[in-house]
Amino acid sequence: QGGAAMLLLFMLLHILQSDAAERSVLDRDLLAALRDEQFVLHYQPQLNSAGRVIGAEVLIRWQHPQRGLVPPIEFIGHAEKTGLIIPIGKWVLEQACTQLRIWKDDPLYRDIGLAVNISQNQFRQAAFVPDMLDLIAVHGIEAHRLELELTETLIVQDMEDLVRKMVALADHGVRFSLDDFGTGFSSLSHLKRLPLNTLKIDRSFISDVLTDASSETIVRTVIGLGQSMGMTVIAEGVETEAQQRFLASNGCVQFQGYLFSKPLPLQEFAAFVARQHG
Ligand code: C2E
Ligand code: CA
Ligand code: CA
Ligand code: CA
Repeated sequence: QGGAAMLLLFMLLHILQSDAAERSVLDRDLLAALRDEQFVLHYQPQLNSAGRVIGAEVLIRWQHPQRGLVPPIEFIGHAEKTGLIIPIGKWVLEQACTQLRIWKDDPLYRDIGLAVNISQNQFRQAAFVPDMLDLIAVHGIEAHRLELELTETLIVQDMEDLVRKMVALADHGVRFSLDDFGTGFSSLSHLKRLPLNTLKIDRSFISDVLTDASSETIVRTVIGLGQSMGMTVIAEGVETEAQQRFLASNGCVQFQGYLFSKPLPLQEFAAFVARQHG
């Protein structure tokens, strides 16, 4: 019996160690990725009801020397746990600001802003607000071209700090959207206190909006809520014309999804924008 317990202990130790070893390999690789500039941003077009590109969501990918293009699901969650999301998130914001600077005087991009995903522990950093304002000033960009996508998980804890930071940035013109809306538990009283410009309806509701009555109700409700609170409502993950028609006829005014375009490397996004200007 003692032998069995020893064996179990030994196995557990082994699992813990290999897990820790794997963890540190990924950490080391992510640090190298930052240093060697292996991260790239893809741009997914966001369109208005007239079919014009009004912005793009920037989505990170990892151009790994051996593994090829690695999607964010394989490293963002890990980076959030270890804190590496802080330097990675900074890099993303820097790139987004650099790109906005490049587009600043280009008439093709006059109406185009960038939406950037911000992790909760990134936004929780004490220096987030001054760092963000610095970036905007250093790049000489218009703050309203930048929309920060936050998720409802942020709302659950320390509402005061959240409101203070959001208001400080919103006062400078930075825009905010609530991502994956409908999947969390934010209450209306919370929503009312936040300077949000946009509600982003989660893809899961869009994908069954035509086949599932409760998704349909949620989508209609979110659109109505956004309208009544003076926010823009954008649907993400729009894949079919039927979905878009349903959304548009219920008052949704902005769309993002494979129906229009996948997230694109910069050059292809530029071509997409150029094409619509004919
Ligand atoms: P998200 O913010 O909800 O981003 C939307 C995801 O849906 C993207 O996946 C996008 O490629 C995908 N998508 C867009 N349209 C469609 C569609 O019509 N159909 C389907 N099936 N999918 C669609 P992606 O790029 O793999 O990103 C996954 C998640 O990784 C993001 O979810 C976001 O939470 C996170 N992420 C990506 N980039 C960053 C970043 O720079 N910083 C942080 N903190 N998180 C990021
Ligand atoms: Ca997002
Ligand atoms: Ca989303
Ligand atoms: Ca999501």
